[in-house]
Amino acid sequence: MNWLTKAINFGEKIKKILKKRPSKEDIENSDWTSCCKGPILKKDLEDNLWVCNSCGKHHRINCRQRFNIFFGKNNYEILETPQPTDDPLNWVDTKSYKDRLKVARKKTNQHCAVMIAKGTVDGIEITAGAINFDFIGGSCGAAESEAIIYGAQHAIDNQTPYVFFPCGGGQRMFESPIALAGMTRTTLAINELKKSRLPYVVCFVDPCAGGITASFAMLGDIHFAERGCLIAFAGKRVIQATVKEELSPEFQTAEFVEKHGFVDRVIDRKNLKKEIVTILEILLKKNSEIHSELPNETSKNIEPTTKVAS
Ligand SMILES: [Zn+2]
Repeated sequence: MNWLTKAINFGEKIKKILKKRPSKEDIENSDWTSCCKGPILKKDLEDNLWVCNSCGKHHRINCRQRFNIFFGKNNYEILETPQPTDDPLNWVDTKSYKDRLKVARKKTNQHCAVMIAKGTVDGIEITAGAINFDFIGGSCGAAESEAIIYGAQHAIDNQTPYVFFPCGGGQRMFESPIALAGMTRTTLAINELKKSRLPYVVCFVDPCAGGITASFAMLGDIHFAERGCLIAFAGKRVIQATVKEELSPEFQTAEFVEKHGFVDRVIDRKNLKKEIVTILEILLKKNSEIHSELPNETSKNIEPTTKVAS
């Protein structure tokens, strides 16, 4: 029976080779990624703003890549945001929260999921914020909430509009009520921004859900969304199980949400800068043909927007 054992062992070896799949690290360190038509060079994808040429899928990008597209490469300054104490609850589940933070920081080269930057686009000074989904699913804990609030305060202090690109799964449950308090705190910060009559423009990026959608992300004066992105509060399966109805495949996509009035316009990434700047020019009565008849455009960015609002 020796030949049989050998044959079985040989078969097992072949199985192992065939089953070997690249790990997440292998994929991240590779020059290649994949989309609808199989492997695609990351460089080619990057040249097209991380949008697939064949199917138009908008691949996820990190905060710096987002700012590079919006402000122009290295045409912005990253602002240092407050850093509250890590892991106030000493949370441990299958891993400690401190370890998760360490891994996420190393992986993303960010202190928290949110990054705030300032820069000038077409002569308009802008404070912008973005969330990196690779940092613990873009979830919001104390540090993230503080960063969002800091961005709003920076916009008020410098009288600039605030543009935000939210994504992420919601509040970070490793910080439990402290994370939940972030929903109220960020909402209040946006209210302060509105009291100062400064435009707040939101552009949803994939995927945006939970407490993020339920707080600062839904309070924009204008809501854009990148094509195909997911915008939700609870997940589709949970809703389906609750209402006991089959939901359409496009449920919770940007296009579906736009049709139902929660998003003003769905945009392609290549038009992101143009669309946002156009709306800011209108709100700020600056550079716009619409306001060309207005006398003496001042060099100041902000003018009261009461006339626009009324
Ligand atoms: Zn594709």
